Amino acid sequence: MTGKQVIEIGRKRLMPTYAQFPLVLVKGEGVRVWDPEGRSYLDFVGGIAVNAVGHCHPRVVAAVKEQAGKLLHCSNLYWFPQPVKLAQELASLSGLDRAFFCNSGAEANEAAIKLVRKYAWNRGQENPEIIAFTNSFHGRTLGALAATGQEKFWKGFEPLPGGFHHLPFNGVEALKKAVDSRTAAILVEPVQGEGGIHVATPEFMETLAELREKHGLLLVFDEVQCGLGRTGKMFAFEHYGVRPDVLILAKALGGGLPIGAVLAREEVAAVFQPGSHGSTFGGNPVACEAAFAVLKVLQEQGLVEKAARIGNYFKKRLEELQQRFGLIKEVRGLGLMLGMELDRPGKELVTLCQQRGLLVNCTAEKVIRFLPPLVVTEREVDEAVAILEDALEEFASEQPGT
Ligand SMILES: *Cc1c(COP(=O)(O)O)cnc(C)c1O
Repeated sequence: MTGKQVIEIGRKRLMPTYAQFPLVLVKGEGVRVWDPEGRSYLDFVGGIAVNAVGHCHPRVVAAVKEQAGKLLHCSNLYWFPQPVKLAQELASLSGLDRAFFCNSGAEANEAAIKLVRKYAWNRGQENPEIIAFTNSFHGRTLGALAATGQEKFWKGFEPLPGGFHHLPFNGVEALKKAVDSRTAAILVEPVQGEGGIHVATPEFMETLAELREKHGLLLVFDEVQCGLGRTGKMFAFEHYGVRPDVLILAKALGGGLPIGAVLAREEVAAVFQPGSHGSTFGGNPVACEAAFAVLKVLQEQGLVEKAARIGNYFKKRLEELQQRFGLIKEVRGLGLMLGMELDRPGKELVTLCQQRGLLVNCTAEKVIRFLPPLVVTEREVDEAVAILEDALEEFASEQPGT
């Protein structure tokens, strides 16, 4: 199939759930991807935080190839080593005792929702409620949608499951007032991704810990996007010194293969018993081997520290651009999870960058989001900033100030 055919037939045969740019990608390596004509792009979208160790990391590719030839799938009716090995590694990294594996971020959120409801039910809490936040994103399945604090995602799909209550992100007073005997859990992204790169304040995270202490509720952190080195710590919660009771991971975990995980401390994990929950593909041996390789690469190549260091450098470079271009309202984020908020919609700027060989993404309409692979170098950041600067010049002249 030629690139042209991919777009033509794709537009007819795939459900139109994505607003794709007319760009076909056929190959990736490190921080770069290629179209069918051999043109390369610097990838600062990184599969929306999936390609943390870069495209086709040789160690991940080797792990997948090797496992694919041994055992592609095994039913959870039996034991097999790969999810056990991965759970062990995740426990030692996170300090949380047990893992449940599934296939995506939304599914991991669903599992976490079921887990905290069961925990509440066992404690005799009637009509348990989960507090979540405005601008959050937890996935597209019905439960995860109900948890998501953005109307645009759930409009038209009602009725959604009940039992969720949304409060302003970083709103300490409203949160203190809202917690009562019905509250089973608080579900939060320590750094909101889809919502436009909003970082939780230390005060907000400390309040969460205090409320847990006072009410015995559970803290559930959705680190599907901000976890696994992205923010310059292995887990975003380490910036605050507040360990969750339940941690949700996906995206970067599989290095490109679909896998999600819910981690929990012993007492919470124990409410799931045989029959409580499950997934045919959960813990898939190939996905687990890929994930194990990702965790090893993150640690052995020092990518977490690198994300902190290169992230700081990148942020400084973006702040320099902010000095030059009045249309940039704010630069924010942690590590290599950065957002640049504009005073106007950013879609056209994304296209201008793409034409110049840089892939970036725009979220929450006006926020240019940067999630490059953590293997990105200073030189590649400079290259991206030069392209961005050039694109901003055209963008600013095309759409002069508001
Ligand atoms: C992407 C994302 C999800 C959903 O993950 P899927 O794999 O697309 O289902 C959930 N939570 C957060 C924070 C995300 O960024």
